[in-house]
Amino acid sequence: MRLIEYVDCSTAGCRALDQQLIAQIQVIAPGALVRFDHLAVRVGPGCHPYLQTPALRALEQGLASKPGAILDCNSAYRTLVQQWILWNHCQHKRCRISAAATPGSSNHETGLALDVQHAQSWRPHLERFGWDWLGSWDEWHFDFKGSGCKDLRKLSVLAFQKLWNLNYKKSQLTEDGILGAATHAALIQAPTEGFPIGSVPRSKPAAILAQTDFPSLRQGNTGVAVSSLQKALNKKGYKVTEDGVYGPATVAAIRKCQVDAGLASDGVAGMATAKVLGLLA
Ligand SMILES: [Zn+2]
Repeated sequence: MRLIEYVDCSTAGCRALDQQLIAQIQVIAPGALVRFDHLAVRVGPGCHPYLQTPALRALEQGLASKPGAILDCNSAYRTLVQQWILWNHCQHKRCRISAAATPGSSNHETGLALDVQHAQSWRPHLERFGWDWLGSWDEWHFDFKGSGCKDLRKLSVLAFQKLWNLNYKKSQLTEDGILGAATHAALIQAPTEGFPIGSVPRSKPAAILAQTDFPSLRQGNTGVAVSSLQKALNKKGYKVTEDGVYGPATVAAIRKCQVDAGLASDGVAGMATAKVLGLLA
């Protein structure tokens, strides 16, 4: 399906294309976006759990100030494709979307925005650390206003242009990070199931997502990153339940794997352990 034909309210149907775009960003600017799903968060199906590092640190502090609570996140990093879908829904007055920034201009495309369920209960915990609540007209939305961040919005457009150019040698786009007429015309023709060619093989999604930003995972962490770690452990013969919870059994399996690989057996899955488990390219 071409992007212009996409009418689902959820952006989750474009996940494969999104992952190619995020992988492309990791290639252009390694480490610019870092994962946060090892924290006490639950991420929705259309949510890509990436932020810039200062925003991630502030989120960590906010979560630590509310021990035991899990933050439900509906949207964090948005690809150009996701922002286009939301903007297009808004233009057509679909899906009860009353406001959406023009593609290429949203704070979600620079890894400095979070849409949080039960925003009011999180407000004091997030605002203390530099996350601003936008207001009642967009009741889930928080922007990170702390220092040390970059504007990555052009990167979301550039990633698309590079990915397009990899695939269509005869209709090349100017790689300028600007959503002009030619890039927009190409964008709406993008295949929602992903391009034939990505900068990293489609067969290695875990490696794609972990390539440059594998978070140090440890006991108490939960989420998708823990699930992929457990899957990798099982593949290597260290049997654990793939429940997304880094509990004592996962610690024991990691320790065993570390001993076998000649690493310090601290039970924490960092870069070296992730490499042994095939999670890093
Ligand atoms: Zn938002």
